[in-house]
Amino acid sequence: MSAEKAFVKDCLFCRIAAGEIPAKTVYQDEDVLAFQDIQPQAPQHVLIIPRRHIADSLNDLRTEDEQVLLKLFYAARTIARELGIEQSGYRFLTNTGRNAGQSVFHMHFHLLGGAPLGLFGAPRRSSANE
Ligand code: AMP
Ligand code: ZN
Repeated sequence: MSAEKAFVKDCLFCRIAAGEIPAKTVYQDEDVLAFQDIQPQAPQHVLIIPRRHIADSLNDLRTEDEQVLLKLFYAARTIARELGIEQSGYRFLTNTGRNAGQSVFHMHFHLLGGAPLGLFGAPRRSSANE
């Protein structure tokens, strides 16, 4: 993903970042946007995305984007504090590829909390083992 290709026109999260598709914003700055997940998996479920399409997934993140990556982490901390889940705890993760169930290929992070979260990482019984 080249630096010039910061907007991908058929990318859902590029379109949300551009304001073409509405979202419930919880945090924004010049590089980062965070909004409520449309299908929350926890009482608090926020998506934290770079405004620019810097990568489809973690697999193609480049070292020159390290500042944006850092800002995503700091945004998560700020949002956790603002949501009041900083002390009770939360999970911050990125799904990468098929086996992780990634469905939007604009690299992003999930911030989940507000209640004890289930264990994760166990393979689904019905799934192939690749
Ligand atoms: P992932 O499956 O890790 O790629 O995460 C994509 C997330 O985007 C899922 O949790 C979806 O529920 C969420 N999502 C899809 N469409 C929207 C939307 N229009 N607004 C907010 N969240 C969305
Ligand atoms: Zn995008």
